[in-house]
Amino acid sequence: MHEASIVQEIIDITTEQAKQNNAHKILEVEITVGAGAMIETDLLASAFDVMKNETMLEEAILKINKANLKLHCLNCGKIFESDRMISMECPYCHSFETVIESGREMLINKIIAE
Ligand SMILES: [Zn+2]
Repeated sequence: MHEASIVQEIIDITTEQAKQNNAHKILEVEITVGAGAMIETDLLASAFDVMKNETMLEEAILKINKANLKLHCLNCGKIFESDRMISMECPYCHSFETVIESGREMLINKIIAE
């Protein structure tokens, strides 16, 4: 499962950060998942609930924000947003010559620890 490796990454990064700040447990992690990151957020949340056991994140809440894809049309030059990878057609000129500017990534926005 692809989501499990992402959860492992979240656990590793946040644990490392918490240790650097002499924290003992993590209470909340807020992440942003781009629409183009190919991450199923429901699966991510359930994987987190299982994998957080016996880590510093045992009591942590995972907050997931979703970010739209930002696309740039090479034909008319306009920037537009999409919530799905499959709709990359420019809504202004209907060209498919578009490139993804952002929205393919998963970011950790905030960690609350004590
Ligand atoms: Zn266009």
